[in-house]
Amino acid sequence: MNISIIAVGSELLLGQIANTNGQYLSKLFNEAGHNVVEHTVIGDNPERLENVLKHAISKYDSVILTGGLGPTKDDLTKHTVAKLLGRELVIDQHALDYIEQYFKEQGTEMTPNNRQQALVISQSHVLENKHGMAPGMLVEQDGKHIALLPGPPKEMKPMAKEALLPYFLNGERTIFSESLRFAGIGESKVETELLDLIDNQSNPTIAPLAGTHEVNVRLTANAETEQACKALIGPIKAQILQRIGQFYYGSDDTSLEQAVMENVNQSIALYDGVTEGIVFSRMKDFDTDNALKGMLSHNEQFVSTHDTIEAQLSITANIIKDLFKTDIGISILHENDSVYLGILKHKQLTIQSFKMPQRRNLIKYRTPNYVLMRLLNWLK
Ligand code: ATP
Ligand code: MG
Repeated sequence: MNISIIAVGSELLLGQIANTNGQYLSKLFNEAGHNVVEHTVIGDNPERLENVLKHAISKYDSVILTGGLGPTKDDLTKHTVAKLLGRELVIDQHALDYIEQYFKEQGTEMTPNNRQQALVISQSHVLENKHGMAPGMLVEQDGKHIALLPGPPKEMKPMAKEALLPYFLNGERTIFSESLRFAGIGESKVETELLDLIDNQSNPTIAPLAGTHEVNVRLTANAETEQACKALIGPIKAQILQRIGQFYYGSDDTSLEQAVMENVNQSIALYDGVTEGIVFSRMKDFDTDNALKGMLSHNEQFVSTHDTIEAQLSITANIIKDLFKTDIGISILHENDSVYLGILKHKQLTIQSFKMPQRRNLIKYRTPNYVLMRLLNWLK
């Protein structure tokens, strides 16, 4: 099903608030396997709203509106939708009872405009508002779905998730997602490698998402049971890992440093000429067996830039390994446009390198994931 989301409210256009409702709904419905194809933000203006609605209803299967369901003059969403669909507004008794009860409990007088909130579009399915007064609505007309949700996020979110979403999931379907996490590879490279899979996606859907110095690929399946969802995800996941598995470190809530430390079974010391301790400190957070013995930051005395980079790595890895009496000594250095990782175990030094731009802050923050990813592969 393709969906257009329309957020109504002049405060959105004035920049007073961000359209977080649009973001929430997009995530919710995309993860459920639908296609959100359009976001629109529109002010509290009935003509412009009507135009936007006409366009969306004619083009897409479903339209979801948020905002403008309240009791004040500027709240005109349901009036506009009703007019366009040629329907009446009628009092929903259940909603009216609820509103009257609310005012009774508060001990305040109910102003007449509050009755407005119990007005719903005739023959619509009323969506209960458990956190506010204005009910939501789902209208079906000519095979299209038009949903109206309140603006306040604390009312809108539970209504969207608990009352609206089930209507979009024909029957008792289960949604299950797995996020594959990749480091040491850029988003565009991931996409290039997976392009044909992404172009031909159906169930599961495949959504690459750039994180901070990492990329997640979210696979979302829709089936009868969780087990059936996993069975749909399995073969696609295998294909993805066949292509970019050397950058994969785990799924869902796993962190890269956690994956690294789960594979450490010998003592380690670190010489860090690049990240000012970030690599060490991230690993230390998951060092339950106290395998990390210590680290040194860059010290000009140990090496000379006249030495080759291989020599510099060997010298520093040996220094650190001897100093902390560990099984493994690791050295991270930067030269020209590359970062070098030296891993020394017994007398054997393994060297890896990767390109890194010259900007200092970029080097410092981007390097840790590249280093940790390579270290993980080496450990495995
Ligand atoms: P109310 O009964 O509070 O008037 P309403 O359904 O009429 O609810 P609006 O008047 O449009 O909704 O918005 C009420 C408040 O909800 C806004 O002031 C804002 O704080 C929040 N809100 C509205 N739309 C959005 C949105 N798209 N994203 C995030 N917050 C929103
Ligand atoms: Mg309002």
